[in-house]
Amino acid sequence: MKEDAALLPVEEARARTLALVRSLPPEWVRLEDALGRALAQDVRAQRTLPPWDNSAMDGFAVRSADLTGPLPVRLQVKETIYAGRTPREEVRPGTCARIMTGAPLPAGADAVVMRERTRLAPEADTVEILEAVGPGNFIRPRGEDAREGEVLLPQGTPLGIPELGLVVAQGMLTVPVPRRPRVAILSTGDELCRADAPAEGQIVDANAPALSLAVLRAGGVPSVLGIARDTLEDVYQHLAAAEGYDLVLTSAGMSVGEHDFVREALEKLGVERDFWRVAIKPGKPLAVGRKGAAVYIGLPGNPTSSLVTFELFVRPALRRMLGHTDVEPPRVSGRLEGELRKPEGLAHYVRVTAAWRDGELWARPLSTQTSGALRSAASATHLLHFPRSSSRLATGDKVELLPLSWGA
Ligand code: AMP
Ligand code: MG
Repeated sequence: MKEDAALLPVEEARARTLALVRSLPPEWVRLEDALGRALAQDVRAQRTLPPWDNSAMDGFAVRSADLTGPLPVRLQVKETIYAGRTPREEVRPGTCARIMTGAPLPAGADAVVMRERTRLAPEADTVEILEAVGPGNFIRPRGEDAREGEVLLPQGTPLGIPELGLVVAQGMLTVPVPRRPRVAILSTGDELCRADAPAEGQIVDANAPALSLAVLRAGGVPSVLGIARDTLEDVYQHLAAAEGYDLVLTSAGMSVGEHDFVREALEKLGVERDFWRVAIKPGKPLAVGRKGAAVYIGLPGNPTSSLVTFELFVRPALRRMLGHTDVEPPRVSGRLEGELRKPEGLAHYVRVTAAWRDGELWARPLSTQTSGALRSAASATHLLHFPRSSSRLATGDKVELLPLSWGA
């Protein structure tokens, strides 16, 4: 318990990790490659959109002043304006134009009456308007989406699909975003072999491939450095060969066992340690440091622990490198289905599957929570935060849930 008290709280560990990273230098990339990054500079509108007042409905473009008398009002229909066509005539008193959604509003008209509020009149080319509308009704005004020269999207805007739609509507094919972080991944352990070279008495390195996928999904470019043996020299050699990365991730060898050499190797390399060990389960033996512009994060070896700590510490750091300002893991509120107990001292991040029922998100802990078993991560949808100072949670208790980014 005393020892736990000296461990860094999760929030502080994340804040200190984030303090080591910043947005990477910008590059101009095509829109599909920009998705998920944040803008490195303001993007200004190059054209006014929509370029003209246009109809928001299929209906009739009218002069609202014509509709002030008793209803229905009969108007002569002078033309039909389809989207993509140019109106030919001005709408004069007593007349109107049939108009389709998106078509430019003809001169003289100041409102649109939706088709459902009209009726065909017996005379040819005549319509009965059943409703009086004011100026501007169902008109999408010129410049509603963008005005030439204005800042359309400010620096730091996360580029999701609507934002990129706005950009392409400007005729822009590329945007300035921070370049993708280059991330090296090193597995360590005498017991490990590669999946394509299985060996008797060894286990397949699951961390490097899983972490590579996590890096890819977070928007980084992973490079696997291979497997280092449990000697100071081999871990050091592998790390020393890793040049030009923004982030170097190691897994395993972080504890205080006789064969745990990662911390020593990082030290020998000149990595300045910021902290080691966080008050968290799974994932206590986490270490974070830096050397020059590169950040080094030593993740725990248990496959589930490495993924949980990736989610809580590494992913936010990668998001910051990609220009995002809001990088804290997202959280939603839910209720526990089941009971959880633990000693105080460490915050637990419990793998749960959460499902919506009766207006609440109910979180059910997976039956195995051992961090050695990847099974305890498979099918989890959220991490349930079981706070450090709490020792029991009961069915129905309100809980904080972190949606996982690692699912299908
Ligand atoms: P360590 O932190 O080195 O004590 O490793 C903790 C546990 O994680 C041990 O059971 C290791 O065998 C396991 N482990 C470490 N690295 C990997 C890896 N790359 N793939 C799968 N299991 C691993
Ligand atoms: Mg080991």
